[in-house]
Amino acid sequence: TKAMLTEQATANTADREALESLIGPERAARLREAADSIKERLGAGGTLWHVNSTGAGGGVAEMLHTVIPLYRSLGVPARWAVIGGDDRFFSITKRLYGALYGSIGDGGPLGDAERTDYLANLTTVADAFRELLGPDDIVILHDFQTTGLIDLLGKDVAAMYWRCHVGVDEQTEASTLGWDFLTPLLDHADGLIFSVDWHVPPRLRERPVTILPPFVAPFIPKNRDLAPDVIATALARSGLSTGPAPTEPTTVDLGGRPVHLNHAATVVSVGPPEPGQPIAAQISRWDRLKDMHGVLAAFTTFVPEGYLALVGPDPASIPDDIEQGVWFQRCVTDWQALPPDLRARVALICLPMADLSENAVLVNAIQRAATTVTQKSLVEGFGLTVAEAMLKSRVVVASAVGGIRAQITHGDTGLLVTDPTDLATFGSLVTTALADTPENHTMGVRARRHILDNFLPDREVVTTAQMITT
Ligand code: UDP
Repeated sequence: TKAMLTEQATANTADREALESLIGPERAARLREAADSIKERLGAGGTLWHVNSTGAGGGVAEMLHTVIPLYRSLGVPARWAVIGGDDRFFSITKRLYGALYGSIGDGGPLGDAERTDYLANLTTVADAFRELLGPDDIVILHDFQTTGLIDLLGKDVAAMYWRCHVGVDEQTEASTLGWDFLTPLLDHADGLIFSVDWHVPPRLRERPVTILPPFVAPFIPKNRDLAPDVIATALARSGLSTGPAPTEPTTVDLGGRPVHLNHAATVVSVGPPEPGQPIAAQISRWDRLKDMHGVLAAFTTFVPEGYLALVGPDPASIPDDIEQGVWFQRCVTDWQALPPDLRARVALICLPMADLSENAVLVNAIQRAATTVTQKSLVEGFGLTVAEAMLKSRVVVASAVGGIRAQITHGDTGLLVTDPTDLATFGSLVTTALADTPENHTMGVRARRHILDNFLPDREVVTTAQMITT
């Protein structure tokens, strides 16, 4: 069983100097001023806490691995706690996840019995957490797994904020049920944070809300520039380059930081792309809402040329998330049913998860090897994969849902499909994006600029400072 509360360590470095030179002196000065005002607000004994329910996997953990070292390098005492829970707790939160994204996953209820069990679990978490907390601390809770802690710990600290990373553009019956469950738990929060304003449900519009989208971290292994030989090694281990996959472990150097490539991906394919064949890639969890099998159907029906790589974590390495195994198998079944010529144009790639830096280098290399990166999500909180690919100057083809709408302006910084179930339009935009044209090149350049201007880690610190000092 998982511990009810773990302090999460991170091996990442802050890379603050590199960040400051990327954002320029004016933004760097604002970043340092923001850190100073957070320190002032915390006083001598206060700590800034971030709390979520996983130390690895998914966008929130990704962000916290970067922002905690950044705060520390700016002199802000910041710590990260990961809550635990029993199977019942996580089956309830999984149901909430589905509901807040607009559909009830397993059809189960979210009533009084669920509320009681949810709060019982969080009461145990709170008892462990209280030991670590001081009266001057400020706590930022992430997502619906932690919401109940507002009432359970609010009196023990100086302030408590709740940050929501999920949402639907228009409320549904299911999302209404989800918000019925959460809203009474939010009454005593000092503020609420949403990624985009169209995810704030109508009933919370009168509350103090801060809009803060996630950021991409430009210098972590997932995003930093890679030397061509590192890309080649990573692609060989992911089934995307000709020649045998190296079986010997290799160590690659990422600007003085060694990353060990010890594991190869598990690949379902006839073979790698032909030399020069343009690649479309989607890199996501094998989740229903990421619609990997929809990408497969659209590509094999409507995209006449090119190679598709569907890439996700190895489901065998995440046995407690059986759903990912189910949706991966669905892709395998669909792939097997294809005629041989189409089968040869698609790879299903399961990345090793044993070493997260290794996983990140493989993701990075695949995003860079791809001519276009897709994100055909049915709904999306923010869509970090979109920002990651845009930072790498890729033309992204994505659904116009959730935070993706804050990242891509259609035809300017990428290509959007209004209806995520419209396979023909998606396919035709992928065909456009796969072409080697000056329009696509300049669109990629604008995509990168948009991310640098709006979605880097300094925004996190500056917005947090504004929020907790007003
Ligand atoms: N990701 C990864 N390995 C994988 C698949 C995804 O590291 O095999 C990363 C991806 O690069 C991104 C994050 O997981 O950083 C997913 O964040 P996003 O906001 O796109 O979706 P979420 O999974 O949080 O719904």
